[in-house]
Amino acid sequence: APMASDALVLFGMTGDLAQKKIFPALYAMARKGMLKTPVVGVASSAMSGAQLRERIERSIRLSGQADDAPALERLLALVQYVSGDYNDPGTFARLKQALGPALRPAHYLAIPPSLFATVIKGLAAAGLAADARVIVEKPFGRDLASAQQLNQVACSVFPEDAIFRIDHFLGKEAIMNILYFRFANSFLEPIWNRDHVESVQITLSETFGIENRGAFYESAGCLRDVVQNHLFQVVALLAMEPPAYRGYAAVHSEKAKVFQAMRPLRAEDLVRGQYQGYRQEPHVDSGSDVETYCALRLFIDSWRWSGVPWFLRSGKCLAENAVEVLVQLKAPPQQLFADSQPADGRANYIRFRLSPSSAVALAARVKRAGKEFVGEQRELYLLDADAFEEMPYERLLADAMAGDRALFTSEKAIEAAWTALEPVLGEHHPALPYARGSWGPVEADALIADYGGWHDPARA
Ligand code: NAP
Repeated sequence: APMASDALVLFGMTGDLAQKKIFPALYAMARKGMLKTPVVGVASSAMSGAQLRERIERSIRLSGQADDAPALERLLALVQYVSGDYNDPGTFARLKQALGPALRPAHYLAIPPSLFATVIKGLAAAGLAADARVIVEKPFGRDLASAQQLNQVACSVFPEDAIFRIDHFLGKEAIMNILYFRFANSFLEPIWNRDHVESVQITLSETFGIENRGAFYESAGCLRDVVQNHLFQVVALLAMEPPAYRGYAAVHSEKAKVFQAMRPLRAEDLVRGQYQGYRQEPHVDSGSDVETYCALRLFIDSWRWSGVPWFLRSGKCLAENAVEVLVQLKAPPQQLFADSQPADGRANYIRFRLSPSSAVALAARVKRAGKEFVGEQRELYLLDADAFEEMPYERLLADAMAGDRALFTSEKAIEAAWTALEPVLGEHHPALPYARGSWGPVEADALIADYGGWHDPARA
């Protein structure tokens, strides 16, 4: 078994992600007695011990977790802070001192992606990379070339099995359940292919906008922010072949093959949108064409999925907060009943609700009582759970520190995913305006019109 990391170094200690997700995760670990190693934060701001404490306390309060004073004290006793610029070798020398006897630190890069390479090189130069792990936040590159470059830098310093690329979707229960549900059951496999599946659609919708992250969003947009990583990871779990053996390596390899089989997108496969008012957000260009919404049609040119369209959509300032998958099955070969072409045009399907609640539902038609042979489509719920408190960052950090790679992404998968998106990163139609609170530009409906239209997650 891999050796556990004996310290956690948090680059980006004063950042937004640390405040929103990482401190709450560390606190949750401390409450369960799962955090025993020193935590050394590194960022540029000067900060006193009292300010650090105040910052951590505020973050935990905002996360809504129960007050547990002893756990807070346990966490604070483990935390140190080193201030300094990542471009200054002196910062790494001070970090080395703060780490003391720790020999196998895990370095978590919760920093702007433009600094990933700087910090990795700084760690190597200071002798802090040997026997260490590195945990890299998303986005991993902004196109194929930058992802390859970053992989090159990371792999020149760390072996692949010491690199943990985060996609926090993979730490969510409902997403892990896709893999489980597919391969812990036998009834699914016979229909899980082009013979029985008509199309697949995935929605990731948010009601809020870019909040205070205008500068970040201007350099990203919806395709880079959530499609290349979160949505593609869901596609891979749904589309992958059964892993041939137990353990993460087989899963990683089957997922990578899905990305490799993705047909590179063309401009006509993509509808881009921008919510009204986006250009007036702070740090956003007044003529920005960055998309806050996108809908796309994707093909996986594999034996299993040949010809089956995958429709993906995501956006900000939409009507609902939801993540949902709908696997649309084909209609029966003959229409024997008057109502076998249902009013909503939707044949049987399997629906995964991934957020905010989790559900797995099978939709099938049953006859209504009476003289006529007419019925209705009903959903049978196999799983119907309220949104439960979960902290993917807690799970992922603990896994990375234990050297467990199952829920992280591989170099091969990331590069293949960028390859599929590459053509539309540069060449695409302009972003179409849409009203806040809507379901995005109407043009996105045309994309999927022949396949029953988008399923409204609010209706479930
Ligand atoms: P952020 O708020 O801009 O934080 C950046 C951090 O890096 C700060 O702690 C900052 O320190 C430090 N820093 C920047 N330049 C530095 C330098 N030259 N020397 C030393 N320290 C420096 O960024 P973030 O939003 O937390 O995002 C961090 C990472 O997480 C990014 O990769 C992002 O894509 C990813 N992520 C963020 C979110 C989110 O919701 N925020 C969600 C998912 C993924 P000072 O402030 O002290 O200068």
